[in-house]
Parts: sequence; structure tokens; C-alpha cells
Amino acid sequence: MNIILLGPPGAGKGTQASLLVEGRAMVQLSTGDMLRAAVAAGTEIGLKAKAVMAAGELVSDEIVDGILSARLDEDDVARGFILDGYPRTAVQAASLDRLLEQKGLKLDHVIELEVDEDALVDRITGRFTCASCNTPYHDRYKRPQAEGVCDVCGSADFKRRADDNEQAVRTRMAEYRAKTAPILPHYEAQGIVRRVDGMAAVGEVSAAIAGILDG
Ligand SMILES: [Zn+2]
Repeated sequence: MNIILLGPPGAGKGTQASLLVEGRAMVQLSTGDMLRAAVAAGTEIGLKAKAVMAAGELVSDEIVDGILSARLDEDDVARGFILDGYPRTAVQAASLDRLLEQKGLKLDHVIELEVDEDALVDRITGRFTCASCNTPYHDRYKRPQAEGVCDVCGSADFKRRADDNEQAVRTRMAEYRAKTAPILPHYEAQGIVRRVDGMAAVGEVSAAIAGILDG
């Protein structure tokens, strides 16, 4: 099974991708990671990418395709892959189709974790973690049992991410829509887009994804 997993920041995409990697030995193909690996390995295309990035320019579709193409030739990809962060435009999606076809591969599903924006704001703006042991808490859904004291380690020191505020969440949602909207019609036309309720509990979301992959 080869999939693209889509979802705005906070929808649990990273968690679900990790579960698929652990549970099914699928390979997560993140363009950022692949670029860094190619640069570090000093491959011809990695050196090209390095020069472009050093000049402060965006890496071209051609370079990303080249790096993805080389990665798709590695054996572990046969276990199934999860594409992360690519494609982002209809042009890239068409180019990915050609690349996969050349290699005798295909995308089985494009799975989007859907979220309700207001509920996402509620979920993200309330979260905080223990500064000592990183246990997660939430203002409304999971307060420490003793107010101001971590249940796990007893620390009284908590922290919040600076960008977990309403404006930042709404900006991230708008960016996600702008980046993702262009590729959905491409895959809708192929009939492979599936939607999962990203606001459900982690176990329910992973069960829904498993249902799609095994269905
Ligand atoms: Zn703690």
C-alpha cells in the first residue's frame, strides 16, 4: 500500500504516520528528510540541492523529483510508503504520477485527516506539558490531578508552545488549505481520496486508517 497522508498541523498526522511505520513497517518519505539525507550523502543531486539552498532559493520540482526517484529505487519502499509534504501542486502531482508509473508503482490512497477548525483551536490552545518529563496536559480535558503538580514526576514547572495560540492555529490552517487544496481535485478525479475524522481519539483514527488500508 502506498499512500499520501494529509492533514493540518495538530490533526495528528505525525502520530498516525509513526503508527503506520511501527505497525506495518511502512516507509515515511518526507521531502525535507530526503533532501537533508541527499545533501549529507553528497550525491550529485544532493550537491545541486545544497547549492540552491545555500543561495537561499527554493529547491525546484526537478530536484525534488530526482531525489524522490532515487529514494523510490531503494528496497524498503516495497513495504509500502507514506508520502509526506509532497506533492503540493497539481503540476507536482502529475509529475509524481509519471514517476511512479515509470517505476511500476502506484498510489493506493490519499487519506485526509479532516478537522473542525474551531475544535482544533480548542484542542491546541489548551495544551501544555510538564517542563521536566514532557507529560502532556490540557486546560479543559486533562488537568493534573493535583492542581499545578505533574501527575508523573511531581514537578510544578509547566510549559506551553508559543505558537499554540488561536491566531497561529488559524494561520497554520489557512496555509494548509492553500497548500493542499490544489492537489485534491487531481486525486479526486482518480477516485482515491479518502477522508477520516481527525478529531476522533488516536485509536479511532488509526482504526479508520487501518480499515481503508485493509479494505
Ligand atoms: Zn512531569
